[in-house]
Amino acid sequence: MKHCLAIIGYGGMGAWHAKNILSRIPEIHVKGVFDIRDDALEKARENGLFLYSDVEDLLNDKEVDLVTIATPNNFHKDYAIRCLRAGKHVICEKPVTMNVAELEEIIETANAVNRVFSVHQNRRWDKDYAIVKQLLSEGKLGQPYFIESRVQGSRRAMHGWRGHKINGGGMVLDWGVHLIDQILNLIDSKVISVTAHLFNLYSDEVDDNIKILLRFENGVSALCEMSTNCLINLPRWHVSCTDGTLIINDWSCNGKVVKLNTDTNLEWSDDIVYTEAGPTRTMAPRPVHTTEVFDLPEAFTDWSDYYKNFIKAIEGTEDLIVTPEQSLRVMKVIEQVFLSEELNYGVSCNI
Ligand code: NAD
Repeated sequence: MKHCLAIIGYGGMGAWHAKNILSRIPEIHVKGVFDIRDDALEKARENGLFLYSDVEDLLNDKEVDLVTIATPNNFHKDYAIRCLRAGKHVICEKPVTMNVAELEEIIETANAVNRVFSVHQNRRWDKDYAIVKQLLSEGKLGQPYFIESRVQGSRRAMHGWRGHKINGGGMVLDWGVHLIDQILNLIDSKVISVTAHLFNLYSDEVDDNIKILLRFENGVSALCEMSTNCLINLPRWHVSCTDGTLIINDWSCNGKVVKLNTDTNLEWSDDIVYTEAGPTRTMAPRPVHTTEVFDLPEAFTDWSDYYKNFIKAIEGTEDLIVTPEQSLRVMKVIEQVFLSEELNYGVSCNI
């Protein structure tokens, strides 16, 4: 069965959805668009899409069974609820809402009207994340205990609505939501504390560079960093495990795995490092014959599986990959991030 989709908000991301669905997901017909701006509508017209002059027309269009919402964040909740009540299944861009309470309202509505609702957490299909997920699930590096996940830009990119609090701007809600979602799907344990430092380096209203430390009940910690003002990048991923270390340097997935090949403790030896001010044996490099270096595995991911899974969830043949409950957990962690920043210390939680 072919499904029929309409998009609310045809800016950068709305247009991206339309283009990629058209070229990669034959199960979905992209019919039309509602947007409040004439230039966005003009672009949609040029791309052969139907234009709804009012969102009510879209909601009343019986042919449309799916809606993707890609407006600025503060409009997500109302549109999601209206679409669900009109009988549509809904995909909402991230961050799904401005806070936990709004998402709970959406979930309640989706359950009441028996429609499928999911958040476009597309970064779960990024290859760098898939490689980390694969390596950790294989367990060959032992147990992970510290995961560093970073995205570092330097373009000071809080343009337009992203720079305004009222629209849900700022880096926590922009990229933080992706990195937290990824980490929560890597570590199967409850978050027991959140410590955040949110910087406002050049924005008067919103966080533009952020550091978040999550501690899990099973002893793992994760550091998520997002910069928009970083001129020398650290690796995209650095994962410390009991028997090895994994590094992914960049979006192109350059990196390596270094694994211990012996369990025996090293004896003190002559490999002493002398700095200007003193010697160190503990920080001397490990002899190379005690480790093995591996290339990163290939990751085979296909973003279109996000939509294909959504369709199958509607048809009742698969469970949703990105569930509303997972997104609720992410939003709960995000609320603790803002609380930690406000209080100026780490906060305990049980999420
Ligand atoms: P954008 O500014 O490029 O586009 C937003 C569009 O929404 C504009 O065309 C605007 O006219 C329209 N709009 C604004 N208010 C509206 C309203 N009340 N009703 C209908 N249309 C309205 O923004 P963007 O970068 O496309 O971001 C849109 C959403 O997509 C945000 O939630 C953002 O966080 C998300 N996003 C997700 C990813 C991802 O990889 N998942 C990437 C970028 C953006």
